[in-house]
Formats: sequence, structure tokens, C-alpha cells
Amino acid sequence: MEKVNVLIIGAGVIGLAVGKALSEEFEDVVIVEQEKSFGRHTSSRNSEVIHSGIHYPQSSLKARLCLEGNEMLYDFAQNHNIPYKKTGKIVVATSEEEIPDLYALKENGEKNNISGLSIIDESECKKLEPEILAVKGLFVPISGIIDTHILMQKLESEAEKNDAFVVYDMKVISIRKTEKTYIVEFSNEEIFEANILINCGGLYCEDIAKMVGIATIENNLKIHWCKGEYFKTTKIKNIEHLIYPLPSYISCGIHLAINLNGEVRFGPNANYVDELNYKMTEKYKKDFFKAVNKYIKIEEENLNMDDCGIRAKLQGPNDNFRDFYIKEESEKGYSNFINLMGIDSPGLTACLSIAEEVRRIVKS
Ligand SMILES: Cc1cc2nc3c(=O)[nH]c(=O)nc-3n(C[C@H](O)[C@H](O)[C@H](O)COP(=O)(O)OP(=O)(O)OC[C@H]3O[C@@H](n4cnc5c(N)ncnc54)[C@H](O)[C@@H]3O)c2cc1C
Repeated sequence: MEKVNVLIIGAGVIGLAVGKALSEEFEDVVIVEQEKSFGRHTSSRNSEVIHSGIHYPQSSLKARLCLEGNEMLYDFAQNHNIPYKKTGKIVVATSEEEIPDLYALKENGEKNNISGLSIIDESECKKLEPEILAVKGLFVPISGIIDTHILMQKLESEAEKNDAFVVYDMKVISIRKTEKTYIVEFSNEEIFEANILINCGGLYCEDIAKMVGIATIENNLKIHWCKGEYFKTTKIKNIEHLIYPLPSYISCGIHLAINLNGEVRFGPNANYVDELNYKMTEKYKKDFFKAVNKYIKIEEENLNMDDCGIRAKLQGPNDNFRDFYIKEESEKGYSNFINLMGIDSPGLTACLSIAEEVRRIVKS
């Protein structure tokens, strides 16, 4: 049996960021991942947007960690040569009726301490993005995009520089608490004993919490999978900013995202699913066509299926807002088990600030 001090389950962007932070502080940190490399799930299947946190409820963890993470991520990218671009984003009101919601969004953003927000009129919108259809816009200067693959590569190599190990092909299948440690069993029959155990299992975080012994349903910690698909186009070019509709209660809405090569894609939509299936279909193409044409003109035949990702949400269908859940579980009888659940958007943006939150919890 291998003895380790800190065992982190999951090498998505969150597990890697936590591994990097904790390896600066502690000896003997190991990240275990069931796949053959990092980021095979949600962390490689997202919009790659560095969010501002504008629409999250004031005082929520999502609002705070998004804003802190936004700044930390730009600094980290700058200092480690990770490709990124602070593009700014325009949230559009496409009818007079939407204008009050745009002002309400600005007010919420200001309450969340986001600086530089400004309402721009139709002509200013056109000046920034000539093809955009909007009666007014809200300009958010701190939004941007980042190369998530290189980000994860860097987080992994920084953790390894601090003598942490990232071990692949290691699927956790059972966890048993002893008086002071956790005995973790893997599908390849290896067994580790850890003093501190951290759940960064993304879509499988509920399974991991259950393995420890946490009653997830009774504790209101059921995870809902929510699929988000993208369609792309080659017909729209030279877009410089991210373009968003007003957010819905469940997601940021089908927005226009550019990648670092300037390629344009639209998404994600949001549909709750029961199975982990990354297959794309044309099923929602008409919905995309309708949603996108509110803010930019495009023909249906110029929308092509792209990719999709699945969110691990605590918020189920028709539920109200649910925050990130980041907690040391002593109260439930599991000391030194740090449980991260429902790390949906803006998890990528907040990866470094979430890692700092975990560092603070472990040190306290
Ligand atoms: C469509 C979509 C768009 C998004 N857009 C954005 C965006 O633009 N900006 C933003 O900030 N956020 C965005 N997000 C959210 C962001 O992608 C996530 O918050 C983040 O990637 C979560 O990372 P993670 O490490 O928790 O999960 P994951 O990347 O899923 O990593 C979890 C890892 O744990 C491993 N694992 C699970 N169970 C076990 C086990 N038993 N044993 C060993 N390993 C295990 C998995 O294999 C996986 O690699 C988006 C999400 C989606 C789905």
C-alpha cells in the first residue's frame, strides 16, 4: 500500500490547479486520474472564456471566485506564456424590452465589484462589431479567452516541479475511512492511504462523495448533468469580441465565442441528460439558428455541428441558483476530506482562486 500525504482525485483543470497550489505548501501530493491524460472531460469541452462573474448573485462563491480567478488567470497566463486574449465581451439587448435587463445586469456586475462596465448604444456596438444586431450593449472589458490545453499542461508541470505526481489510468473505485486516514482502492488493484483526500472528480464528484460515505441526496448534493453543444461557422470572420445574449437562469446563453485563431462558434445550449455521451446531433440546430439570428445574421446551412461538453451542476431542472460547494467535511464525520461539488461554470475561470480556497481550508 502506497502512503501519501495529499491525494487529489481528478486531473481536470480544478484538480491540477489544486495540485499546483498544495504542492507549494505540502510534501507528497499526488493527483490520480482515471483517463490516460489530463482534461479529457469538461475541462477540454467548454467555451475557453475567462468570465467576469457579472451575473452571479452578490456574495456567492461563484461571484467572488470568478472575479479573483479572472485576475489570477490573466497573471498566470502572462507569466507562463499561455496563449490568451483579453477580448472584452458585449452583452446585447436585441429589443427595447431587454434594455432594463441590461441595466440590471450592469448593476449586478457593479455590486460584484466588476470595474469598467459601460452601457453602449447601437452605433457604439456597431463600431466595436459591425455585424452585430443590438439596440444597446453592455461592454465588459475584463472578459477574454485562454488556451485551456496549454493552461492544464502548465498547471501539471508546475505541480510536478514542486515534486507532486500526476498518475494516469488510476480509477478510484472505493474509499474507506480509518480513524485518521483514507484508504483508496483503484481499478488496477493498487491501494493508497492518504492523510488528506480531495474530490475534484467533476462529473463523477457525487460518486466519489458517496464512496467516502456522504449521503448526497439527503445533503442536497445530487449532481445533475447538463449538456452544452456548439455549432460553428466559417462564414463570419474578423470578430474581435465575445458576444453574449442576456443570461438565462441556467446558463450564460448561446453566445458567440471566438478562439485564439479567430474561429467563430456558437453555444453552448443547456439540456439535462442522464448519460455521458459526447455525440453531437442536428437536433437543436433550429434553436441555434433562432438564438444566434437575434444578434448576428447567419443562414442555417452555414451552421455546422462542432463539439459539446457536460456540466456537473448542483442546480437541477427548474431549481434556483446553486453555488459551488467547496467544503471540508468534518461536520459530516469525514475530517480531512475536502469535497468540491457542482464546479460548473465559471470553474475554468476560477480554477486558481478555487485552488487558493482549498489551500486556505487545508491550512486552517
Ligand atoms: C459546455 C461548457 C462550457 C463551459 N464554458 C466555460 C467557460 O467558458 N468558462 C469557464 O470558466 N467555465 C466554463 N465551463 C465550466 C468549466 O469547464 C468547468 O467548471 C471545469 O472544467 C471543471 O473542471 P473539473 O476539473 O472540475 O472537471 P473535469 O475536467 O471533468 O475533471 C474531473 C476529472 O476527474 C476524473 N475522475 C472522475 N472520477 C474519477 C475516479 N473515480 N477516479 C479517477 N479520476 C476520476 C475525470 O476523468 C476528470 O478528468 C463550461 C462547461 C461546459 C460543460
